Amino acid sequence: MNKPLILVVEDDPPVRNLITTTLKTNDYRYLVAANGETAILEASSHNPDIVLLDLGLPDMDGVEVIGNVRSWSNLPIIVISARSEDSDKIEALDAGADDYLTKPFSVDELLARLRATQRRLSYMTAEMLSASSVFVNGKLRVDYAGGCAYLDSRELHLTPIEYKLLCLLSKNVGKVLTHTFITQNIWGRSWENDVASLRVFMATLRKKLEPEPDSPQYIQTHIGVGYRMMRIE
Ligand code: CA
Repeated sequence: MNKPLILVVEDDPPVRNLITTTLKTNDYRYLVAANGETAILEASSHNPDIVLLDLGLPDMDGVEVIGNVRSWSNLPIIVISARSEDSDKIEALDAGADDYLTKPFSVDELLARLRATQRRLSYMTAEMLSASSVFVNGKLRVDYAGGCAYLDSRELHLTPIEYKLLCLLSKNVGKVLTHTFITQNIWGRSWENDVASLRVFMATLRKKLEPEPDSPQYIQTHIGVGYRMMRIE
């Protein structure tokens, strides 16, 4: 199999060097771009496997790069941002980013995100090929056609909203979904009190799904941002 090709979009040379050195020593191939315009050009001409994208670029906002790439491709985008504000991450995720890393990040963290994204990619490809209507993750099984879910072959008794939530998370396994994305998909709108209800439904879903709701395995909380279903190996 070919080594994965990563497009590194970063204008800060020390950070860019850290990333490319890490990629080189871990058997990845890479391309670099120091601004948004080059990033879009490189992405469209080389079709990389994953894009690592800094949000603060000299010529345009990284969110614009996401918007441009998403108009023609679903290739995974991991946002790298020095800004710790949740609103920037949320904006990038809502524009179509798959995941995010906040600067300063460790090499291990970077590699873990890349591996998680690769797992998600191969899962999505296998899923498309098999056109399966059953989702399996660890002990969880969701039968989309039958409209039911099982844990350890025991049927979960879910309310319609809990079931919709579980399907939305499982169909986007590995991806961080923002509160706005989830509430719009579940209720068709996103009001302040919908986010509050989402927390309540998420808590009841977790009680049924997680063996230990206090240390969840399946659904990860991103405080102030949203939720993600973890892919269980
Ligand atoms: Ca920057």
